[in-house]
Amino acid sequence: MKVIEADLVISAGRADQFPPGPFPEVALSGRSNVGKSSFINTILARKALARTSQRPGKTQTLNFYKINDRFHFVDVPGYGYAKVSKKERDAWGRLMETYFETREQLRGVVLLVDVRHKPTEDDRMMYDWLKHHEQKVIVVATKADKISKGKQQKQLAVIKRDLDVSPEDPVVLFSSETGLGKDKAWREISDALFG
Ligand code: GDP
Repeated sequence: MKVIEADLVISAGRADQFPPGPFPEVALSGRSNVGKSSFINTILARKALARTSQRPGKTQTLNFYKINDRFHFVDVPGYGYAKVSKKERDAWGRLMETYFETREQLRGVVLLVDVRHKPTEDDRMMYDWLKHHEQKVIVVATKADKISKGKQQKQLAVIKRDLDVSPEDPVVLFSSETGLGKDKAWREISDALFG
């Protein structure tokens, strides 16, 4: 996929700010610090469209990016950051629920996990919850450059097993450092959007 245009449409803190219109969209979700901003910037070939290492604890928004005037990427706030207050976590939960339960344009979700670690309880809850809502999920295992090839394959098996990944959901090994997995991620995202 050649990205000609990628622009932030809106940072939505409320459901009535979600942009209307027919564009199909893919949402991107994962724990804070998993490499979600780096993934977005890498596959869109933009230096800093999505902000990396966002400071947690400030207003959580769903960031809608319009790509090539054809589809949306929706950057979902990172979950699992221990230091946010209960009030913030509840607000985050409500916004997520509204988005994932009502958004008709949504065609699939990229769930990012760190290839070096076992999926966390939050990762498992998120995957189960998305499947409960019958979403297509593309699992992206980030930071592949940080471990050896042998370890990568071992960890992929652990991730598939622990998340209990459905046979129809792809798992993509990815590195924003080397670009590994970029083409495969695009194929899967295009398939979800237009397939
Ligand atoms: P986010 O909080 O999920 O948006 O995570 P970021 O994209 O901000 O990444 C968190 C940290 O991990 C940053 O220091 C990134 O430079 C680093 N990082 C992200 N992806 C990779 C990767 O594929 N390889 C390596 N080596 N570091 C990465």
